[in-house]
Amino acid sequence: MEEEIRKIVGDKWVITGEEKTLYAFDGFTAVVGNPSLVVLPGNEEEAIEVIRLLISKEKKMIIRGSGTSLSGSTVPLKGEVVVSLTRLNKVYEVKGMEIEVGPGIANIMVTKSSPQDLFFAPDPSSYVVSSIGGNISHDAGGIHVVKYGPTFNSVISLKVILPNGNVEYFYPTPFLNPTSIFIGAEGTLGAILRARLRLFPKPKAKKTIIGVFPTVEKASKAVVNIFKAGVIPSSLEMMDRNIVEIVERSRFRAGLPRANILLVELDGNENEVKESSEKVINVIGKLEGEVLVPEDDEKYWLARKGAFPAMGVVSPAYLTLDCNIPRKYLPEIMTEIEKISKEKNVLIANVFHAGDGNLHPLIPYDPNDPESLKRAIEASTEIFSLAIRMGGVPSGEHGIGIEKIKTLSKYYSEVDLKVMQRLRNTFDPKGLFNPCKFLEKCEPINQVTRWLWEWD
Ligand SMILES: Cc1cc2nc3c(=O)[nH]c(=O)nc-3n(C[C@H](O)[C@H](O)[C@H](O)COP(=O)(O)OP(=O)(O)OC[C@H]3O[C@@H](n4cnc5c(N)ncnc54)[C@H](O)[C@@H]3O)c2cc1C
Repeated sequence: MEEEIRKIVGDKWVITGEEKTLYAFDGFTAVVGNPSLVVLPGNEEEAIEVIRLLISKEKKMIIRGSGTSLSGSTVPLKGEVVVSLTRLNKVYEVKGMEIEVGPGIANIMVTKSSPQDLFFAPDPSSYVVSSIGGNISHDAGGIHVVKYGPTFNSVISLKVILPNGNVEYFYPTPFLNPTSIFIGAEGTLGAILRARLRLFPKPKAKKTIIGVFPTVEKASKAVVNIFKAGVIPSSLEMMDRNIVEIVERSRFRAGLPRANILLVELDGNENEVKESSEKVINVIGKLEGEVLVPEDDEKYWLARKGAFPAMGVVSPAYLTLDCNIPRKYLPEIMTEIEKISKEKNVLIANVFHAGDGNLHPLIPYDPNDPESLKRAIEASTEIFSLAIRMGGVPSGEHGIGIEKIKTLSKYYSEVDLKVMQRLRNTFDPKGLFNPCKFLEKCEPINQVTRWLWEWD
């Protein structure tokens, strides 16, 4: 089979040696797999030929974008073939407020390839590298979700190669929308070959307001009160004191005050922005927060977007949790997270999309000390359970992957899970696409997967 693949893509694009370990893990580094082969097709035709060949041989495969998944959704746990689609990065058409692209194009390039007055709204902090195929398959979010919605809101139609080898176009319909099935499917229903995406007009005016708070509870209350004041910000991000300290020790430092920070972006026309700014400033003041209105806000947003990689100053390894809770519970959950941090003796730094209640507690661990990883997983399990008890959802934007298989079954009812499972079996009855992830429970392959998959 390897020989046949080489003939399709050329020797250079088949990786079998030591280099394939680069494809053994993704942004969730706690579990490392072992691909039997890595293939990088150069265009749509090659991708279709390779995938059809793998299907005909009943070879299990993982469709991969840029490998920045934070839930381990691209890890080849059982020697699967990894098919990376990063070279399928063409822009096919720009028409009106729509753009059609290949799945491998980096998120940042979509706006760069669009007309000057338009932009692609989903902007995960990994926007410089993460691919559109990966963004769609995780329903990625980013700092603008609060106003513009996740990737789901920006996908119009898809071209997909299905697990039976057929290539189909899926268009939106007002009923049982088939396009939507592939959004957040984590590569389990086929491989996305093209995506037609929606663009938004760039706002006429924008303003950033920074709220500086002595306590994380007050910052959390401000989030709730901003919405109560009738403001829908275009971004509303929180950085707690721990992450601010870490970012300020990293190359992303921006001179942020050592406190709990809210970064609020307002957009719209001049009047809307002015009116909303006054309301936000008022809310911050009432909670004894200090207000900063920077002339040049870019460095602060870069500091926010650099917060995950900045964790490297503490440890090369950390868990990035992802769960959504109703905003009104933010003050309560932040207090509880602090308690869990003390009980489990782990550092927890929080940087997250506060406006849509999407938490990202970051828990560093020592990759050479299994006990430290165990404590981090225990703390994460408690946070997920707490979020679910508060009416939250196990994943806001990073997907289920291998990290949250157990959490998924704690949240969804049996009926929900059966419907999802049936859908998956209808598309992929042989389970060839992305096994042991998301809905498919497998036997643990090691101690870490045991910790992840066997808690009560
Ligand atoms: C520093 C950092 C910051 C991040 N910030 C954010 C953030 O703010 N918001 C956010 O939502 N996420 C964030 N992420 C997570 C990650 O970047 C996103 O989940 C992203 O959408 C993954 O894209 P990718 O190209 O790396 O996909 P991969 O990691 O390669 O794959 C992700 C999933 O998509 C599937 N897939 C990929 N391509 C295809 C395709 N063509 N067809 C079918 N399935 C496919 C894979 O099988 C896998 O299940 C961050 C990650 C890092 C490392």
